[in-house]
Amino acid sequence: MMIKSRICNHRFWIDFVYPNRCAVCNKVIVWNEIVCSECMQELPFLENPFLVSCKSNGGNLKKICSVFEYKGNAIYGVYNLKDRKGLRFGEFGGEYCSKYIKDSGIADMIDVVTFVPMSKKKKKKRGYNQAEKIARVIAKSIDKPLMKNLLIHKSTSTEQHLLAADERLINAKLSFDICNDHADITGKTILLCDDVITTGATMNKCAELLLKMGAKAVFGATICSTEMN
Ligand SMILES: [Zn+2]
Repeated sequence: MMIKSRICNHRFWIDFVYPNRCAVCNKVIVWNEIVCSECMQELPFLENPFLVSCKSNGGNLKKICSVFEYKGNAIYGVYNLKDRKGLRFGEFGGEYCSKYIKDSGIADMIDVVTFVPMSKKKKKKRGYNQAEKIARVIAKSIDKPLMKNLLIHKSTSTEQHLLAADERLINAKLSFDICNDHADITGKTILLCDDVITTGATMNKCAELLLKMGAKAVFGATICSTEMN
């Protein structure tokens, strides 16, 4: 009896000192929830989570799986994702992505999971790459290996989200490259992960490089998308 009550006390104090918060609105919620019931109702789940193509997808990605439309409170979730305390939105979205990928049979085709790289400077500043965190959740859930050193992000002075659509294409071409000591991915089917897809320029460029390295095919997985079928 004493042990049980101590465990309960322990949980109570952890929750008291570090209250569990909703990954979208930051409201205090019970310890075993990720998103509160109000946010859950309002989240803009995509009716069709598979985007066959997007404007700037020059055919380098076979299919892209996305969970939410990038609007409403999903924007707050992504905003939190870029702040350490909100990484659970990545876990939450990553688990949905994994479910869709498994249910559609795509997971069976995947050999390797990877992610859109972040520049060293930005990663040092933030402390982590949220795309890597999402890829880690998905890789674990679909039981496939995560490969970290396939692509690199070369530091450029301009961030993608500050540019117009046509400028993003040019910037994406300049920003990414193949990692010098990358693993052999010849003949492998890759799942490329990121937090948000907007014009698709970044994912398309990364997929182009993976194909150049000998990958058989590239699929995409993102938490949010601005593109609709
Ligand atoms: Zn909430």
